Amino acid sequence: MEEIRVFCPATIANISCGFDVLGLALDAVGDEMVVRKCKENTIKITKLEGQDLPKQTLQNVAGVAGLALLEKADYKGGFEIEIYKKIKAGSGIGSSAASSAGAVWAMNQLLGKPFATIDLVKFAMEGERLASGVAHADNVAPALFGGFTLVRSYSPLDIIRIDAPTALFATVIHPQIEIKTSDSRKILKTKISLEDGIKQWGNVGGLIAGLYTNDYDLIGRSLIDHIVEPIRSILIPGFDEVKANANAAGALGCGISGSGPSIFALSKGKETAEKVAISMDSVYQNIGISHDIHISKINVEGIKILA
Ligand code: ADP
Repeated sequence: MEEIRVFCPATIANISCGFDVLGLALDAVGDEMVVRKCKENTIKITKLEGQDLPKQTLQNVAGVAGLALLEKADYKGGFEIEIYKKIKAGSGIGSSAASSAGAVWAMNQLLGKPFATIDLVKFAMEGERLASGVAHADNVAPALFGGFTLVRSYSPLDIIRIDAPTALFATVIHPQIEIKTSDSRKILKTKISLEDGIKQWGNVGGLIAGLYTNDYDLIGRSLIDHIVEPIRSILIPGFDEVKANANAAGALGCGISGSGPSIFALSKGKETAEKVAISMDSVYQNIGISHDIHISKINVEGIKILA
């Protein structure tokens, strides 16, 4: 195989209680990429459509992640990459992760799959380092594994994939305001109280247990963030109202997607997810901030080949 076209899903990182360790992949939103082998031992971004982003290899996350793979691969050639962005950069639904993960996943396919998924996560994390200054895995892991992922440990890297309950739907609203991941990291405190820690790890455990047992109420009770959301939500106009509306419309829970400004809600069933979307939409209609809304099943397969 010389060339491959792939779908690279958008992802929701943190999922309220799991800052930097939990993530999930979406089905209805994602980029497309075409990756092809070439003779020269380098990575070139030959096309980039849909967003105004740098095409230089070292300034594009797909280039940086691809170079990390190339360095470890037993392969004398290189790759050309075409990126068709549908996920807006800086939206908080893993725009950079989709490109980093998509590039290395496609390259691994073209090379006959010499690398395990966990290796691909490590390469893709180099792209995240370029985008935000931190090599976090909570977006690239669900993009690569599909479903929900838990980064149990960063050193050594240990990632657990968890299946999604079948009726679980995500609603994501993206108010078009700019928040840089690097900026929204800077405002966080580096120390937390034991009291907050106890509440937070109780919820992380509860969420994981709820996912394994298909207990939607337990999932809902666990979608609480005592540590990051109280600080970061200040950067998102209308956040408290969006959350109150989503919960009133029947969502299991609602929180900041990644570093924002997107806000996500999880619901049982598509019908509720649609009601939640309408309730969230009304807030930004009233404030007058333009926005996108996505309703999506959880994507259990991750990145996939397109015909
Ligand atoms: P998101 O949370 O949506 O991934 P980030 O702020 O983490 O947004 O990443 C966007 C940053 O990464 C921007 O500064 C953008 O210029 C940079 N970037 C570089 N290459 C890409 C790419 N291929 N896709 C998206 N963002 C990229």
